[in-house]
Amino acid sequence: MSSSTAESTAFRSALEVIRAVEPRVADAIGAELTDQRESLKLIASENYASPATLLAMGNWFSDKYAEGTVGRRFYAGCQNVDTVEALAAEHARELFGAAHAYVQPHSGIDANLVAFWAVLADRVEAPALRKAQARHVNDLTEQDWYTLRRELGNQRMLGMSLDAGGHLTHGFRPNISGKMFDQRSYGTDPATGLIDYDRVAEAAREFKPLILVGGYSAYPRKVNFRILREIADSVGATFMVDMAHFAGLVAGKVFTGDFDPVPHAHIVTTTTHKSLRGPRGGMVLCGPELADQVDRGCPMVLGGPLPHVMAAKAVALAEARQPAFADYAQRIVDNAQALADGLLRRGAKLVTGGTDNHLVLIDVTSYGLTGRQAEQALLDSGIVTNRNAVPQDPNGAWYTSGVRIGTPALTTRGLGTAEMDATAELIHTVLAQTTPGTNADGTGSKAKYVLDPALADKVSHQATDLLAGFPLYPTVSLG
Ligand SMILES: *Cc1c(COP(=O)(O)O)cnc(C)c1O
Repeated sequence: MSSSTAESTAFRSALEVIRAVEPRVADAIGAELTDQRESLKLIASENYASPATLLAMGNWFSDKYAEGTVGRRFYAGCQNVDTVEALAAEHARELFGAAHAYVQPHSGIDANLVAFWAVLADRVEAPALRKAQARHVNDLTEQDWYTLRRELGNQRMLGMSLDAGGHLTHGFRPNISGKMFDQRSYGTDPATGLIDYDRVAEAAREFKPLILVGGYSAYPRKVNFRILREIADSVGATFMVDMAHFAGLVAGKVFTGDFDPVPHAHIVTTTTHKSLRGPRGGMVLCGPELADQVDRGCPMVLGGPLPHVMAAKAVALAEARQPAFADYAQRIVDNAQALADGLLRRGAKLVTGGTDNHLVLIDVTSYGLTGRQAEQALLDSGIVTNRNAVPQDPNGAWYTSGVRIGTPALTTRGLGTAEMDATAELIHTVLAQTTPGTNADGTGSKAKYVLDPALADKVSHQATDLLAGFPLYPTVSLG
C-alpha cells in the first residue's frame, strides 16, 4: 500500500467511525480541511503538521493519567507513556543541543508558567520554600506560608513590550504573569524599530529584574541572545528565552551562534505547533541546574500530561531532525524576505523595513487603514492574516495599525519566492483599494471599511489559483 493510500485510508476510516456517533463533528472536521486547503494562510503562528503527527494524537494514549515524570509516576501502568515521553525529550535534547527537555506543557503559556515557577523556586531566598521543597510541608506554620507567599510575589520581570512584539505572558497585566510579577519592559528604537541593547542594559541596571525575558511574537528580526545573556549576568538575572515563534528556525539551524537562544539562556520555552510544525503544545529546555524544578511542572503547575500529544511531539521532533527540515527552515526565511521585498517594491511600509525571520509586520497606516480594517478586507479577499500592534501604536491593541504575516504555513505547502511576490501583489492590491468607512454620525470609523466586492472576489480567485499548484495534504483524499 502506498503511503498516500495509507494516509487517505486512515483519515477516511477515522471520519467514518466518528460519523456513526456524531455526524456533525465528522462534517466539521472535513470542512476544516477544505477551508484550510482553500485559504492563503499567512498567520505567522500557524502551520500544517504532518499526517503522522496528526495521527499520533488520535488514540488511547489520551485515556492515560501519567502525573510525574518518566519512571517516577503517581499512577501505575505508565510504561508506554514513559516510552513516548522519553523519546520526545531525547529528540528535543538532540535537536536543540539542550541538557534537559521537559515535554509535558500543554501549550506555550503553560511552558512559561512552568519556567516561572522553576526560576522562582530556584532563585527566591525563602527559607519556608526550602522547607516545602524538602517535603516537610506539614512542618510549615501559618507564618511560614504567609512569608512564602509574600516572598514569591512581587518578584521582578523585564521583558519586551507588547507593542514592540513581546508576548502577553512576559509580564503583562491581562495575563497572570502580569499579576504575579512586577513587570517593566524594553521596547525598540523608534527610528529603526530594532531592539536597542544599550537601553535594555540600562533598564536592567535600574530595575534589577529576577528574570530577563527574551523572545517575541511580532518582531521581524533576529535577536542577539549573547548580548541579552551578558546583560542578565551583569545584574544577576536569570535569562529566559521564549522561542515559541521561531523554534523551527532554531531547529533548522537558520538561527545559530549569537542568535540561537539555547546555549545562551538559562531556560528556554517554546510552543511546538508554530514554526516547529508539531502538535499543539509546549516544551521547556534548560541546563542541569534548573532541571529538577522544571520537572515539578506536573503536578505543581500543570494537570496530567497529554500522552497522546507527547507521542505526536516525538514524531514531529523526529521529523525536525531530518535534513529536509533544515531546508524547510531556510525556505521559511527566504519566503518571508521575498514577501517583504515584494511589499516594499510596491510601496508598503514595514516595521524595521524588512525581515530576517519568518514574519513581516506591515504598518497599514500608510494605506490610511487600521489593522482591523486591513485584516478584514484581506479576509474578504481570501487572505488570512491577523492584525497586530506596531511599536507605539496610535490605535491601541484592539484596532491596531499593523497586519502581521508569516510564511511557515505556506512554505510547508511548497510555495516559493515567486509565489511570495504574487502574494505581495494581492495584499498590496487589496490594501491600496480599501478605504476607511464612516460611522452613522459621519465620523471616521476604525473598524468599517469600503472594498469593492468584485475586487475582493477577483483577488480571492487569484489566491485560489496561486494555491492550486500546491495541494495541502496531497496524500490525503477524503474522497
Ligand atoms: C504563541 C506564544 C505563546 C503562547 O502559546 P500558546 O500555545 O497559545 O499558549 C507564548 N509565548 C510566545 C512568544 C508566543 O508567540
